Amino acid sequence: ATMPPLLAAIATAGRHGVLVKSAVVMERLGTVTQVAFDKTGTLTEGRPHLAEIHLLPGAADLTEERLLALAAAAEQPSEHPLGRAVVQAARTAGLAIAPVDEFGSEPGRGVRARVDGLLVEVAGPAHLLHPDRDRTAHEVVAGLQSGGYTAVVVRIGGTPAGVLALADRIRPGAADTVDRLTTLTGAAPVLLTGDNAPAAARLAHRARIDDVRAELLPEDKVSAVTDLQRRGARVALVGDGVNDAPALATAHVGIAMGRAGSDLALDTADAVITRDELGTVPAVLALARRARRLVI
Ligand code: ADP
Ligand code: MG
Repeated sequence: ATMPPLLAAIATAGRHGVLVKSAVVMERLGTVTQVAFDKTGTLTEGRPHLAEIHLLPGAADLTEERLLALAAAAEQPSEHPLGRAVVQAARTAGLAIAPVDEFGSEPGRGVRARVDGLLVEVAGPAHLLHPDRDRTAHEVVAGLQSGGYTAVVVRIGGTPAGVLALADRIRPGAADTVDRLTTLTGAAPVLLTGDNAPAAARLAHRARIDDVRAELLPEDKVSAVTDLQRRGARVALVGDGVNDAPALATAHVGIAMGRAGSDLALDTADAVITRDELGTVPAVLALARRARRLVI
């Protein structure tokens, strides 16, 4: 017997590096009208590196090394790419990373822990800086963000002590993938990110994406997907699952980046990109469209 078209398409997709979990998902992929991308780990490689350390006036007698060591200790249990980058930088600098107590993480925000008796918090500026006070910190953050960096604040004992600048690389072929998806679906892809607006805009420009929604918490990513769907789009969301697992579950089709993806994402997603390449997204959408035409 010949294989039914949807199953044959699943086999082909598998060979091209996309695991489509069922015939129903393959069928749905064929009806997608718009694609949304997460940023970190999806449009970017998800391996940020620490580029700069800035001490703030509130840091008192801290050194850059001590600040980095404390931040790395607080980030040690974190699975977030930014957390891993901070830990990696401390290791490369040969710093001792102390054990922590009372570790807590808030998805899309950051981490906190007790290190050497001190409360150390590492998170986005919106969560750790006071909107009116912390003038110097806001200026440092704005300068770094306009340079395209992801700026993360380190607060020690409740006082902003430093700012870390992290940079990630755009994935090769991102702009080409975006162009192909626009042609295929007739709608331009959208970027959803928890990162700051200037850095997001800069990356979006390089990926040729016009519609950018930045500073989104995991629940805001869900609303962004719902919003597109209310306007009639059938949305495929491509994400790494780090802070977008709920949004992956909400989308018409949730597609997880396999290598960067968390276990939760691989379970939640309808499809998994097993070959770490963005170009597999338009390829599998085109395949699903052809398979669907054979079925109906
Ligand atoms: P994206 O949407 O680009 O994938 P996330 O939603 O994962 O980004 O994170 C959004 C923001 O939350 C980051 O830019 C950072 O400010 C903050 N953040 C999240 N996790 C951490 C962490 N472990 N350490 C420091 N900052 C974090
Ligand atoms: Mg992410």
